Amino acid sequence: MKRKNMYENCNMCPRKCGIDRTAGKRGACGADEKIKIARAALHFWEKPCISGENGSGAVFFLGCQLHCEFCQNKDISDCTAGKTVDAGRLTEIFLELKEQGAYNINLVTPSHFAPSVIEALEDAKRQGMDLPVVYNTGGYDSVDTIKLFEGIVDVYLPDFKYMDENLALRFSGVKNYPDVAKAAIREMVRQQPKAVFDGNDMIKSGVIVRQLLLPGHVKDAMHILSYLHDTYGEKIYISMMSQYTPVRKFVEHTELNRKVTKREYERYIQYAMDIGIENGFIQEGDVAEESFIPEFNGYGV
Ligand code: SF4
Repeated sequence: MKRKNMYENCNMCPRKCGIDRTAGKRGACGADEKIKIARAALHFWEKPCISGENGSGAVFFLGCQLHCEFCQNKDISDCTAGKTVDAGRLTEIFLELKEQGAYNINLVTPSHFAPSVIEALEDAKRQGMDLPVVYNTGGYDSVDTIKLFEGIVDVYLPDFKYMDENLALRFSGVKNYPDVAKAAIREMVRQQPKAVFDGNDMIKSGVIVRQLLLPGHVKDAMHILSYLHDTYGEKIYISMMSQYTPVRKFVEHTELNRKVTKREYERYIQYAMDIGIENGFIQEGDVAEESFIPEFNGYGV
């Protein structure tokens, strides 16, 4: 199928809705054919090797294949914020972010707009956009869609949220999350099998898997760490995050109504060290604050 036609019978992600988005239908991601963006701006709250001092050129797309109960970006995942653009404007946004000094172009949840994002990136590259491209995703991605980005994306930044499929079903509504995330990450590592950093420790290519520790679920997080380490060793970096913040009005499950404790995070990090993870990023200090969430008001779009 031609890339453009992918909107007509949409199977771009593992939800496989099979709907015609060109007719205005919306699938589980909440998006029709029109590209919607919540914010396009320099972003300083990613890992230092992504944000650096100048910031990452983050483009936050509206819509999401997952419906995580603890989502901190509900306005984005529900498609209730931001502006509509065409691929031409998206190209301009990439070029503008380069002009502003962004270290990279950071595509935040782009999978459901894959054909349009690829078209805009290819156009921007033809016009001199030579920044590393980061693919920032919840990990619930189809291998076929990730394959379309081969040679276009430099850094993959997927989450690996759950190893237990019952947790995946309870908190994100998709039981097959673990198998889907494993397959997607396998394809990402196939494309980018080695992390490369420049002289300022900024990442130029590779895979960084983010693992957000959830309160009360240290064991599941440990299973993820051992799977990633056993499978990929030092080919990938793992970002072990303590920043979970309860957004109470959305959270029904009581164990999610608190931050991760210091003791839980210490157990998790100790486990990472015990199994020999060397390429890891850890978080220090009190990072579990909502102030790290930028405003999604169409800024820069
Ligand atoms: S991208 Fe959206 S419409 Fe397409 S299969 Fe996934 S959830 Fe469904």
